Formats: sequence, structure tokens, C-alpha cells
Amino acid sequence: MRVAILGAGFFGFHIAHQLERRYPGIEVEIFEKDARPLRGAGTHNQCRLHMGFHYPRSGYTIYQSIMGFDRFVAEYGEFLSDVGDNLYAVRHDGLVSVEAYLAVMDAFHLRYETVPVSPDLFRDPDGIGVVLRVPERSIDVQSVRERLAGRVAARLHTWCRIDEIDAARGMLRSGSQLFGPFDYIVNASYTDPNLGLPENLHFAIKWELTALVLATTSLAPDAAVTIMDGEYVSVYPAYGGMHTLSSVAHTPIRRYTTRDEMIADYPRRLELANRAGAEAAIADDVARHLNVQHDTKELWVTAKTKLATDMGDSRVTEVRRHDRLFSVLCGKIDAVFEASDTILQEMTWPIPPDSPQASVTPDSAMAASLRTP
Ligand SMILES: Cc1cc2nc3c(=O)[nH]c(=O)nc-3n(C[C@H](O)[C@H](O)[C@H](O)COP(=O)(O)OP(=O)(O)OC[C@H]3O[C@@H](n4cnc5c(N)ncnc54)[C@H](O)[C@@H]3O)c2cc1C
Repeated sequence: MRVAILGAGFFGFHIAHQLERRYPGIEVEIFEKDARPLRGAGTHNQCRLHMGFHYPRSGYTIYQSIMGFDRFVAEYGEFLSDVGDNLYAVRHDGLVSVEAYLAVMDAFHLRYETVPVSPDLFRDPDGIGVVLRVPERSIDVQSVRERLAGRVAARLHTWCRIDEIDAARGMLRSGSQLFGPFDYIVNASYTDPNLGLPENLHFAIKWELTALVLATTSLAPDAAVTIMDGEYVSVYPAYGGMHTLSSVAHTPIRRYTTRDEMIADYPRRLELANRAGAEAAIADDVARHLNVQHDTKELWVTAKTKLATDMGDSRVTEVRRHDRLFSVLCGKIDAVFEASDTILQEMTWPIPPDSPQASVTPDSAMAASLRTP
């Protein structure tokens, strides 16, 4: 059995690992557009292993986080750290009231304790309605970069952007090169989930270039603060005692309605972030809300995929199937099992003789049927 995976990110490696476990002897090939694996949003993010506290306006996102959390801890515990003092502050002027926030968290039976609003930490303690201490954890993305790829036997093709997928024949095109036939293809590219899907199955999405500040801060290494829910800020542990600083207003530096516009900007993303003054804007916003000093170590700039239709800040993970292709909308890292479970449930091997996929014979006509540049 041969499977191709687009994208050497967290989702790509996770799905490869689950497939190799299920089908011993399987040949998995991962196609990555960049020079190195694990350099996208999967390892340049807020490093938060969500339980749902971040999503009071999306019950389904909370549900996926709850379903994913324990399995993620069991499988990827080596990459996780406890965040002993992990605070979520809910402001009176946020998008959800304090009462509504607590009601949602209680409805999902999420565990937390309420703690006093510290005037030493919050610049506007009177604006805060409640502070919760929660048991969410932190993902050490540095270790993920170093070790996740070692879990799989898959062959990795780097510098290999996939431009076209022929889902019926299990073929891929990268420039003038063709790869395949594969029995199945999994698109875990995060930014390109509509590649190879017919229009009626397209995910309605939009894209952003986003910036986060990686810094040493005056917070303890195992302390985190997130202010909910609206244009607020967050300081969250990353690795090596550092934190990421993010700001809902300034972390998105550019928004796109088409993938091509975003792809065109991606190579000069750092320049664009610097031109937008992203680092200072994020730091100033954090300093406006929190008494936290910081010393910047790096600016992370990466692409983000969001649902265009979203009104409630949802980050759902969903898989759509077309012929031999499974395409993943990668919402958050805690939901990797949501994606791999769906794929494993749907994938059959050997492909039954009466299935439409079984009737496809790879021959030279297949190559001709793919548009070549
Ligand atoms: C600023 C920010 C903060 C976030 N914070 C969190 C958080 O705290 N917790 C959380 O759970 N989630 C968070 N997320 C979301 C999370 O990062 C993503 O849902 C998830 O990482 C996406 O899956 P991935 O890791 O596989 O993506 P990526 O790491 O982006 O991997 C996808 C790979 O596919 C490659 N690729 C793309 N197109 C092609 C193509 N056509 N051909 C070949 N290769 C291709 C890319 O180069 C990339 O390496 C955050 C995202 C952003 C942007």
C-alpha cells in the first residue's frame, strides 16, 4: 500500500505515524514544499495544548479539544510541560460576559479554580471580571522540530511543492514532475486544503500571515496569562523558559481571501512583519494589559488558515474525502486524532474490487491527463 502525504507538519507526521502503525509494510511518502520539515505553523504557534478555555464562542471547538487532550497527552507526553499557573482572565468588556464564559465552561465540565485578580499582574484589574487557573499544558515545539520526524519511516521529499492532485488516479504533480500512483493521498498542507477537491467539497477558508514574539519574560517559566475574549493579549510558555507574546489585534499582519495572494507574500513574510512593526505592536499591546517585562529572542511569522464563514472564533478540524484523496482542515494541534481517526475509519485496504477506486489502472494516459506546465 502506497500513501502520499502533503505537508511535513505536525498533522502530516502524526497521520504518517498512525498509518504506519495500522498497516505494517505500508510505504508512506511525505511531500514538503520547504527545505526542512516542521517549520510551519505546527512549530511556530502559541504552544498551547488546548482544553477549550480559549473558545467560549465555539462549543464544537471545545468539544474537539476535550476529545483530543488526553489522547494527545498519552501519545505526545514527551513534548509537553505542565503550566502550573495558567491563568485565563475574562474582561467585563469582552465579547462574552463573565457569566456566559463560566456557563459555557461549566456546561463542558471543564475543571478550573477561580483566583484573585492580581493588581501586580493586570494593569486594569477593575476591568477583569474573573480569573481562572486551568490545567492546560504547553507544547515544546523545539523538541517537536527535533524529534517528531524520527517517529516515522516515511520517505520525505523536501523542496517539493505539490501543485496538482489527481484524486481519481492517485497522482501528484510538482512542477513538471509526476509522483504516483498512490493508493491514497492525504492533504495535510494546512494552507492548501482545497487542492484536488471538487468545488462542491471546498472548505470555505481565508488566510492570514501572523506574527508572534518569542521572548524571555518576567513571568515564571511555568506561568501563562491569557485575557479573554476579544482584542486582548496572551503570554504563554514555549520552551527553554521562554514565552510567546501574542495580540489578537496585532498578531495577524495581513489577511487574504485567496491562497495565491498569501503564497506570493509568504517568502517575504519576515520583511512584511518588520514593515508592519509587528514586534513593537505586539509588545506594546501586551504591556498595555499586563505588567510583564520581556526581551525578544525571535519573531515568528507564519501562515494561518481560518474558516471564512466563522462568526464564533472556531478552530475545527475536519476531513473531506474525494476518491483517493483525504483532505484535512487542520484546526488545532490537539485535534490531530480527530483527523487520523476519520482517515483510518474510511481507508480500506485492500481496496474492495467493487469500489470506484479499484477500477483505475495507472497508465501513461494518466500522466497525459495531468496538466503539465
Ligand atoms: C499564530 C498561530 C498560533 C497558533 N497557536 C496554536 C496553539 O497554541 N495551539 C494549537 O493547537 N494550535 C495553534 N495554532 C494552529 C496550529 O498551528 C495549526 O492548526 C496546525 O499546526 C496546522 O497543522 P500543521 O502543524 O500540520 O501545519 P504546518 O506546520 O503549517 O505544516 C504544513 C506543511 O505543509 C507544507 N505545505 C503547504 N502547502 C504545500 C504544498 N502544496 N505542497 C507541499 N507542502 C506544502 C508547509 O510548508 C508546511 O510545512 C496556531 C496557528 C497560528 C498561525
